[in-house]
Amino acid sequence: MTLTGTVVTYPTGAVASRGTVVHVADAGDGRTAVLLDETAFHPVDTAWPDQPADRGTLRTGGADLAVIDAVVGATQGDALLLGPDVPVRTGTEGWTFVVAHLVEAGTAVAVGDTVEVAVDAAYRDALSAGHTACHLASLALDAALAGAWRKEAPADALGAPAFDALAIQESRILPDGSRDVYRIGKSLRRKGFDPEALNDLADLAARVDAQLAEWIAAGGAVRIERDGAALADRRTWVCELPGAEARIPCGGTHVASLTGLAAATVAFTSTPVDGGLELVMTTTAKRA
Ligand SMILES: [Zn+2]
Repeated sequence: MTLTGTVVTYPTGAVASRGTVVHVADAGDGRTAVLLDETAFHPVDTAWPDQPADRGTLRTGGADLAVIDAVVGATQGDALLLGPDVPVRTGTEGWTFVVAHLVEAGTAVAVGDTVEVAVDAAYRDALSAGHTACHLASLALDAALAGAWRKEAPADALGAPAFDALAIQESRILPDGSRDVYRIGKSLRRKGFDPEALNDLADLAARVDAQLAEWIAAGGAVRIERDGAALADRRTWVCELPGAEARIPCGGTHVASLTGLAAATVAFTSTPVDGGLELVMTTTAKRA
């Protein structure tokens, strides 16, 4: 099987596209995977499933097929592996990566058909707002915790010690928000982080919120830079902030400008876990 990597248009904000069916495969569980040469549909990533799949439909021959899920598929030229079965990170050399639109099995769709992709724009907008707010909150958190480091640590996109990158366990983008889980254990303490900085979480949230308010009020532009149009090509979130430009590798979707957000705020909870504590940051975005 020779497949070409799917061209994806969602990084530019597209919510509709037209494509040709290049492959149809049994995806198990009563589902069929439909692969197109090009799509506006954002799939959930396998290795780092932060932003969920878009919702929407494929229209072909006058019929609207509901997309049950959209996952990343990968092949080395033999079997097509889907979603959790993909054993490598998206972009790994030697593999071809595709967007697999999962529809109910038994639907009449064949290689060569023209398909209109229609993404649920309201849900996408909510995820884009949540994803932009998530990146801003992670940078604001790093800045708020900059004084907690007793040793020099790797820096984040704005030069602060990279607490987010060093401690993150899981990140989930939600409609108009996000939920990030951090682990503060022996390894983070050994890198120089003093957990006492997390004793007053209300104060920490207030400082993060103040930074977020300042950044959002400045209304900077947001864009996605990319090395190419294929799913596997490297993409970078670029956001203009007062006095700095933040750049973070990112495969998701975002608002086009911080003027699209009215506010973003965070709340923290912490739970003792074996050898340290787990910190959860919940970010809530309000769209303008
Ligand atoms: Zn991201």
